[in-house]
Amino acid sequence: MRKALCVSVALLASGAANAESEAQWGYSGAKGPENWAELSPDNFACAGKNQAPINLTGFIEAELQPITFDYQKGAEQILNNGHTVQVNYEQGSSIDVDGITFDLKQFHFHAPSENHIDGESYPLEAHLVHASDEGDLAVVAVMFEEDTANEGLKKAWTKMPEQAGEERALPSSVRAEDILPENRDHYRFNGSLTTPPCTEGVRWLVMKQPLTASSEQIERFADVLHEPNNRPLQPVNARPVLQ
Ligand SMILES: [Zn+2]
Repeated sequence: MRKALCVSVALLASGAANAESEAQWGYSGAKGPENWAELSPDNFACAGKNQAPINLTGFIEAELQPITFDYQKGAEQILNNGHTVQVNYEQGSSIDVDGITFDLKQFHFHAPSENHIDGESYPLEAHLVHASDEGDLAVVAVMFEEDTANEGLKKAWTKMPEQAGEERALPSSVRAEDILPENRDHYRFNGSLTTPPCTEGVRWLVMKQPLTASSEQIERFADVLHEPNNRPLQPVNARPVLQ
């Protein structure tokens, strides 16, 4: 009897610890985006002048160099971290931008989209997160319109982690390539991570051509997260959006 009580107390304690770590920041209420900068000294950048997401508009013609994609198979796990559903990628896939190689680390999703294009919000946005050896970051963003199902999402969603903190192995048939449009023309701006600590100096590469996902695929993601996981639009300030 006493043992059982100890176990249940331990479970309660670990439950409380989980709740606490999950609640460090969120998308609504006191820990919501308006207060991220005040939640921790580490989050000072959240109040910065070069934050993401933004409404991409007022494009400046810049003859952007093409992004060289070198994506291989390599999905390892899919995890639900309480803020998004993320596919971790093994070493070996990369993009080249500005003569720098950025390795693909993971991709994850936001519903509805965080960035807007010419004032338009999309029901789903993918972020493919890359880092250089020097620790510089480049995010490729892909918008999804609601229409036919996406093959990449179909494979990944079969292993959908339902609970925050849950992680599941993925077959290598889940490929980052499947959530990239054929046409790689893109917009570019200088921004930040869209979650705390909102680190700036991130190269944002937003694909012009949206993909499609079915309403079921979008709802499945939204259901698992329980609330919208889009940071509100941030002031563009002096930044140009190039195309
Ligand atoms: Zn993101």
